[in-house]
Amino acid sequence: MICDICGKSGARIRRMTRSYGRGENLFVIENVPVVVCPHCGESYLTAETLHEIERLKLHRKNLAQERCIDVVAFA
Ligand SMILES: [Zn+2]
Repeated sequence: MICDICGKSGARIRRMTRSYGRGENLFVIENVPVVVCPHCGESYLTAETLHEIERLKLHRKNLAQERCIDVVAFA
């Protein structure tokens, strides 16, 4: 696909885990499609992905499954 930043082709989708908020409000979304460009080194989310993330955050209570995970803070 074409990179939105530099306009070259070869950008790829990588599925990544993103976290939002912190502490009690920490919210994690897995498999977020991030566009990564090997030419300019940029990684970004498409408008469509950002829109979907907003939707997931909004419906977090209904969609989320609670999972016990380890969390550390960078010292
Ligand atoms: Zn690029």
